[in-house]
Amino acid sequence: MEKITYTEIFYSLQGEGKWAGVPSVFFRTYGCNFRCRKFGRPRDEQLEGHNPEVIEIIKNIDQYNKFEDLPLARTGCDSYASIYPEFKRFNEQDSVETIVDKMHDLIPNNRWDQGTGDDVHLVITGGEPLLGYQQLYPDLIEYCRQRGLRNLTFETNGSQPLHPEVYEYLFEEFTRHGRDYDKLTFSVSPKLPCSGEAWESAINPKTVKSYEMVGYTYLKFVVATAQDVADAERAVEEYREAGFGGPVYLMPMGVVPDVYNLNTQQVAQLAMERGWRYSPRLQVDIWRNAWGT
Ligand code: SF4
Repeated sequence: MEKITYTEIFYSLQGEGKWAGVPSVFFRTYGCNFRCRKFGRPRDEQLEGHNPEVIEIIKNIDQYNKFEDLPLARTGCDSYASIYPEFKRFNEQDSVETIVDKMHDLIPNNRWDQGTGDDVHLVITGGEPLLGYQQLYPDLIEYCRQRGLRNLTFETNGSQPLHPEVYEYLFEEFTRHGRDYDKLTFSVSPKLPCSGEAWESAINPKTVKSYEMVGYTYLKFVVATAQDVADAERAVEEYREAGFGGPVYLMPMGVVPDVYNLNTQQVAQLAMERGWRYSPRLQVDIWRNAWGT
């Protein structure tokens, strides 16, 4: 039976984007096509290999027994344990059935719908969740729908097209009958040059437009400076030219409170000036971005 490698399954509040504040189960898959080594680091810094903070953590890796023991990184990818092979032993591998059982053990009444009009959302995140496991998702989603799942979000970097079978499944389940389009969300966080990723591989307007054909889709850019926002404007132009019609969010860079708090007011102002939306990071505000939040 095929298994999915994943870093963590946890129950928390969605911290970012359209559904901020909504109780959600997060399923964080392992593996990413990017590294985002430069988040929070000087733009002109030349980096060879890993992010320097990750290099330090790898040097001391034997002192950590489990994923939750790993330190938070202030720069680079905040999900570093989900992307570097050096951390693969901190990840788990389970069948779809086992993963779904673990999700159901976390939520109130072991059900997604709460019988009161409220419901718990499922967020499939990463790493990059639209890499190799896509074809296992229809089964995973179906098992959850049997227990009342209504709202599903993919948090993606927007570089990976949907597999044709997965596209067809999502279209059939959420879109074709016009009922549930807004219950399937693609929260797309394209990587700007401040991440260290190349524009050509990070900005994929046609791919994002194809998500929009099956579910509610928005762009969420992580920014710290006016140059980052100028890059976001250039990217938005490319997405709009491809026909993308969804909203745009700006979210402050910073995965620890002292860095994040430096940026919030400035980013809010920059978003307002453009008629764009602002996304908080509630997991930083409430839980200082601890694992499992
Ligand atoms: S795309 Fe996301 S998960 Fe992948 S390296 Fe960048 S920040 Fe990390």
